[in-house]
Amino acid sequence: MILPPFQLHRPRSVEEALMIAGDCAGDFDFLGGGTDLLPNYKNRLNARGHVISLSRVADLSTPFRRLPGGGFALGAMARLRDIEADEGVRRNLPGILEAISQIATPLVRQSATLGGNLLLETRCYYFNQGYDWRASKGFCMKAEGDVCLVVPQKEICYAIYAGDAAPLLMALGATYTLVGFDGPREMAAADFYHPDGIRKSDLRKGEILTEVKIPAEAAVSASGYAKLRLRDSFDFPDMGVGASLRLEGARIEDLRVAVTAVSMTPLLFPEVTEPFRGLALTGELIEAVADGIQKRCQPVRNVMFPPQYRKSMVGVYTRRLLRRLGGVE
Ligand SMILES: Cc1cc2nc3c(=O)[nH]c(=O)nc-3n(C[C@H](O)[C@H](O)[C@H](O)COP(=O)(O)OP(=O)(O)OC[C@H]3O[C@@H](n4cnc5c(N)ncnc54)[C@H](O)[C@@H]3O)c2cc1C
Ligand code: SF4
Repeated sequence: MILPPFQLHRPRSVEEALMIAGDCAGDFDFLGGGTDLLPNYKNRLNARGHVISLSRVADLSTPFRRLPGGGFALGAMARLRDIEADEGVRRNLPGILEAISQIATPLVRQSATLGGNLLLETRCYYFNQGYDWRASKGFCMKAEGDVCLVVPQKEICYAIYAGDAAPLLMALGATYTLVGFDGPREMAAADFYHPDGIRKSDLRKGEILTEVKIPAEAAVSASGYAKLRLRDSFDFPDMGVGASLRLEGARIEDLRVAVTAVSMTPLLFPEVTEPFRGLALTGELIEAVADGIQKRCQPVRNVMFPPQYRKSMVGVYTRRLLRRLGGVE
């Protein structure tokens, strides 16, 4: 498969990147490592006339730094392999390490960036295909067509968000720093994603994700990620659970669980976990959390594993992960 023609821009600063974006009249994409965008371009999925690479914007690539007021920051253009290898991440954010080390393959992680992962295109069996395949089925409204082939009676797209890092960042209370034509703004990861597989997020046209900030409490919480996929060697998640747990003795001081790849956004479940604050962490409590979260997940049939199986695995993986993090037999 070959790439369609486009003009490549390689700015050296965020300001220059924004200026170029402003001149492209909306016909552009930003480029991180290109491991998601360029395969989609090869499949002729919504390719643009201009591609603005952020790889020369050096100050976005710092894998890990401590924030002056406490907490940590990860650069949006940091390569996943550099984040994995960073001693600060290893010491303070082991859950992030667990999620990132399960993304794709070591070779892909050598090019792939954190920002690209968080802004990943949503996925669907009818979308992630070559042009001729899609033409033979009839195009869907996420590219070229005007209907959804998965849920035809609805007017939104059910393509799933299938990134591995976002659920964990949501569970850790992370925020995204976004810089656009109107200047910088911060947004909680938990509020950022949008429940339409075409719109995907609240990122405004021309906005650049520059950094991810993680509160200091992450370093004193147990956190981890459990992933369901067909082939452990490289597949996207068909379901994944990220969780953060902080105990005061045997009691829960903070518990957050987020699930990816069962919906158009990663999902956080404060209504399930908040009522258990202050209670002792037991096997029964973990059962109740896992059941509550499983009940709220409604996957549709648009990836490899069937929806009912993915829904059941939400419960199984949440239960296993929380038992591991809490040291409950
Ligand atoms: C074989 C294979 C297996 C994969 N398996 C997984 C997997 O298991 N889990 C998983 O999560 N992903 C997987 N991926 C997808 C992808 O490799 C990763 O998600 C990767 O982290 C994407 O990062 P990137 O820098 O390559 O993104 P890019 O492809 O460069 O960009 C992705 C999107 O983000 C936008 N973007 C990138 N950076 C910025 C920024 N700073 N500001 C604004 N917009 C930006 C781009 O415009 C584009 O829309 C896989 C890919 C391949 C090829
Ligand atoms: S969910 Fe529907 S509209 Fe969205 S990509 Fe799949 S078939 Fe297309």
